[in-house]
Amino acid sequence: MSKFLSSKYAALEPYTPGEQPKTQVLTKLNTNESPFPPAPEVVEAAAKAAESLQLYPDPDCTELRRAIASAQGVDPDEVICSNGSDETLYFAFMAYCDGGRPAVFPAISYGFYPVFAEINGVACRQIPLKDDFSIDPADYYDAEGTIFIANPNAPTGIPLSLDQIEDILRHNPDNVVVIDEAYVDFGTESAVPLVSRYDNLLVVQTFSKSRSLAGMRLGYGIGSRELIADLNALRFSTNPYNLDRIAIAAGTASLEHDEINREHCRMIMENRAYTVEKLREMGFEMTDSTANFIFVRHPELHGSELFSRLRERGVIIRHWDKPDLADYNRITIGSCEQMDILLREVRDILAGRQ
Ligand code: PMP
Repeated sequence: MSKFLSSKYAALEPYTPGEQPKTQVLTKLNTNESPFPPAPEVVEAAAKAAESLQLYPDPDCTELRRAIASAQGVDPDEVICSNGSDETLYFAFMAYCDGGRPAVFPAISYGFYPVFAEINGVACRQIPLKDDFSIDPADYYDAEGTIFIANPNAPTGIPLSLDQIEDILRHNPDNVVVIDEAYVDFGTESAVPLVSRYDNLLVVQTFSKSRSLAGMRLGYGIGSRELIADLNALRFSTNPYNLDRIAIAAGTASLEHDEINREHCRMIMENRAYTVEKLREMGFEMTDSTANFIFVRHPELHGSELFSRLRERGVIIRHWDKPDLADYNRITIGSCEQMDILLREVRDILAGRQ
């Protein structure tokens, strides 16, 4: 830290992204990326957009917002596009939390929430999960703060039903409820259809997981016109050109060819069922994940040991050195080939311990 850094950031603990190895890695299952590349039409649209990079992009992302609105059955004025969904989440922390309105979220959830709260100088109220890692909607009634819930939750992968989300919304007419649907397309019901009935709902989605565009940094929020106008005021006060020309073109093309994305999601869900079955046969315990990752532990193998033994063998998964999570690992669901490599290495590691 330099001597010039504002004292308000001196204690900031930045978010730690999952490792992006610089060297060749056999099997990367640590950051919930898609194992499939984007459709060729998406790559072509990106290349075409690159021919006009001397020009600023459309600050209203008109074309992309229209495509998102039509895919989601909402009005373009109910959509904000952002540089990854992280940026929409950040705007929501900025817009809807303050000294009198803490951020309220599950004690085990996306690691960026406490960081966004900290950088905005707002308090966090972190609500414990139930013993089985699920969320009890009643814990969020009359929250007296802005609620952030990842659905399905991360890193547990456990979803809330639409009825449970609606229950939380109904009990918080005066609080904004942000539903972070980064992993919704792998088997969870989206809350977007509730937007027309609840002016306190903001749904956040991303192109990073189910649409194979993590490298593009493309996300969006869906909410009432008024909520979207708030977020746009912050966007235009920080970075009105938050999406570049390539991202706008790639995102639009991705929605125009969404069948392939859906097919990829279906394959990932199949691979998840297969991996769960095989890991259970080896004695692993896990939550019922509806995400493109699973959250697993083995009674005889500590999470950190499995993590480092797999790493030595070129398979990277995610481990957190935190008391509630240390027994566990989060494993991204990749291609069949990747899952077979994982299963082979895990089997080998367990056999070596006998
Ligand atoms: N929400 C959750 C729960 C996530 O795990 C992630 C991915 N790290 C994000 C949001 C942000 O994804 P992106 O910025 O790539 O859209």
